[in-house]
Amino acid sequence: MVRLTPELREEIRRRSDIAEIIGQYVHLKRVGRGLIGRCPFHEDRTPSFSVSPERQVFYCFGCQAAGDVFTFVMRKEGLDFPEAVAFLARRAGVRLPEGGEDARRRSEREELLRALAAAADWFVGSLEG
Ligand code: ZN
Repeated sequence: MVRLTPELREEIRRRSDIAEIIGQYVHLKRVGRGLIGRCPFHEDRTPSFSVSPERQVFYCFGCQAAGDVFTFVMRKEGLDFPEAVAFLARRAGVRLPEGGEDARRRSEREELLRALAAAADWFVGSLEG
């Protein structure tokens, strides 16, 4: 898990060109201002999968699959949203900030230890007193 700000999400999106990412899974052909290929999400005999590099979205006329680069990676790689973000961040060389799940657990543990120490102090104090 990562702490994801909207700015960071935008940066990852900006650095993850949808045409390039999808191009690794689907053979895309330029048609006008868009790209088309065979849909990776259904049995597609005619290329009905279109990608708009301009709008950074994809849409399938066959199965109505649609979304942005995050949605594509989620569906194609079977990831949830934070995993897709991490996947694309790694690929784009964007460093995700510390303060994810591990740091949260760590601080929870420290909190617990502090509480135990305080309780022990009190307990020892009350025995001595
Ligand atoms: Zn489709």
